[in-house]
Amino acid sequence: MKHVKYGECVKCGRTYPAVPDLTTCECGGILDIVYDYAYIKTRLTKEILAARQERSMWRYRELLPVEEAAEPSPLRVGWSPLYEEPRLAEQLGLKRLWVKDDGQNPTASLKDRASAMAVAKAREAGAEVIACSSTGNAASSLAGNAAAAGLSTYIFVPSRAPKGKVAQLMTFGATVISVQGSYEETFELSKQAIDRWGWYNRNAAINPYLSEGKKTVSLEIMEQLNWQVPDYIAISVGDGCTIAGLWKGLKDLYAIGFIEKLPRLISAQAEGCCPLNRAVETGEEWRPMEENTLADSIAVGVPRNADKALAAIRESNGLTVSVSDGEIMAAQKLLGRTCGVFGEPAGVTGMAGVKKLCQRGVIGKNDTVVSVVTGNGLKDVANAIEACGEPITIPSDMDRLLAAFAENHISVD
Ligand SMILES: *Cc1c(COP(=O)(O)O)cnc(C)c1O
Ligand SMILES: [Zn+2]
Repeated sequence: MKHVKYGECVKCGRTYPAVPDLTTCECGGILDIVYDYAYIKTRLTKEILAARQERSMWRYRELLPVEEAAEPSPLRVGWSPLYEEPRLAEQLGLKRLWVKDDGQNPTASLKDRASAMAVAKAREAGAEVIACSSTGNAASSLAGNAAAAGLSTYIFVPSRAPKGKVAQLMTFGATVISVQGSYEETFELSKQAIDRWGWYNRNAAINPYLSEGKKTVSLEIMEQLNWQVPDYIAISVGDGCTIAGLWKGLKDLYAIGFIEKLPRLISAQAEGCCPLNRAVETGEEWRPMEENTLADSIAVGVPRNADKALAAIRESNGLTVSVSDGEIMAAQKLLGRTCGVFGEPAGVTGMAGVKKLCQRGVIGKNDTVVSVVTGNGLKDVANAIEACGEPITIPSDMDRLLAAFAENHISVD
């Protein structure tokens, strides 16, 4: 890979050759993939990109840690829509607002961007088995992307994972271990099993290529905005790999001169589990928290990518905002009703954060904001029904319909 220099430890600065099965530094630190931007500038221009037909994350291959001739992953990952939402912007009191709906990926979450990368790198490494632990979406996306590539998977999820995600896992033919414990305990068991059997590791805080896949979300946002940088990009945060990837993509674009400034990040966490926001707000080291939120994908008490995530939030002069489960459910309803976008609880936490920052007057009428919806609401219908209620249920009878309309104060005439 001519455009990739090496992996560099974010803790001690030690460098490692970018082999396909690269993991963490000897010191335990997470690695960051370092590129040769001068070389990339000779290979990629805005014009070259604009002329490209590929509508997936692989359209940015010059900025990804794969060979230029590498096969794209079989499923179509990325190039999700970016919708401008003028009515919601007005309602919230923002200058402009866009929603990036990453629930439209093949397995319905942003995690597909990392899993497609994991599959590409596992193939390079000659691996036939990939494993990961996950709150749910990393698992279902790995299982789907691996199935499409003919690889088998071992998946560890906490037993609280919503049914929709488990159904995906079973459908994609993964070997699923549902761990009766927290995400932390799930992660530990997966680590021991991976060490023992030598499977290719798709844990995003261990495999440094996965953030590189996730960063394609910000590459797309910027291209879809015609390289006009918004003031803020909001995203929900669990382990921290996603926000770190988002930031990496923005820094890449800045380094090759595609954008002239960098936006500020908005790190949205659940009040019941916000160790990273708490660390930024107090200026102290992060400390573990309980996993006390219905937003299961970001119920991460021991964030696995704290270093990169905290660096991203701080370097971007970012904002932190922690929201209650009630605020998350309200945001789910708001996005559904105003935009026609159905996000899972963790998927809409970014929007819940944006709304809260507007209400507090921290952001407002001079600001342009992109909010990323990271996962589809169909993954967790129980919570959606809880947030939005049950339908009117009657027999097939016009009189009962009229009565029901009257009871519910619905005027149809
Ligand atoms: C995984 C996930 C996140 C958070 O990503 P991290 O890398 O864990 O911070 C947010 N939303 C959804 C829907 C997710 O699946
Ligand atoms: Zn190190």
